Amino acid sequence: MKTIGLIGGMSWESTASYYAFINQQVKAELGGLHSAKVCLYSVNFAEIEVLQHANKWHEASVILIDAAKRLEAAGADFIVICTNTMHKLYSEIQAETQLPIIHIADATAEQLKKDGIEKVGLLGTRFTMEEDFYKSRLQSLYGIEVLIPNEEDRQSVHRIIYDELCLGKVENGSRETYINIINRLYEQGVQAVILGCTEIALLIQQEHTPVRLYDTTMIHAESAVKLALK
Ligand code: GLU
Repeated sequence: MKTIGLIGGMSWESTASYYAFINQQVKAELGGLHSAKVCLYSVNFAEIEVLQHANKWHEASVILIDAAKRLEAAGADFIVICTNTMHKLYSEIQAETQLPIIHIADATAEQLKKDGIEKVGLLGTRFTMEEDFYKSRLQSLYGIEVLIPNEEDRQSVHRIIYDELCLGKVENGSRETYINIINRLYEQGVQAVILGCTEIALLIQQEHTPVRLYDTTMIHAESAVKLALK
């Protein structure tokens, strides 16, 4: 079994989900007392969040490159960055480590392709929804059309992520807000919606909506286990 290197803490609420999913999946595959070999480097999210909102992405990349190097020194075989948003810095981090990094959008796109989804809605932070680094990967590498919510809805999605979910707050009112936003995307013709932020599944799960959901945390964790057991 290979050792999975996790860059976590963005936020720790969702890193805990990764750790649980990865171990559950290894147990499902191998049975008994089997569990995953994992190295976790968990950052202080307060430092990262300030840099994100101040548009200081280079400074953020320095922190994540340092994390990748620590995982490399600790004996990880490959890296998983436990957040969609920080894949904005994927190329910078990959350029500084020998270890392969599983891109969260690639793992998600492969699942969408397998299921025949060609037009999808995307929920995530403003950075993920509005900038090009995530959507263009789905569009140009996989031919998947991506729709994002309107301006007001994007604001709500972003606010709920940072002010509630990353702080471990799960509110019924916010779930309603997300369900309404998912419905509006569905009315525009998407076949499914990507939960493109690793905390969203803490708030909304498949049982809350008939619209098909793709939880990037679960998908990313599954692809890590697949690679670890290959
Ligand atoms: N975990 C979130 C994501 O998947 C948001 C926190 C962050 O900005 O990294 O994008």
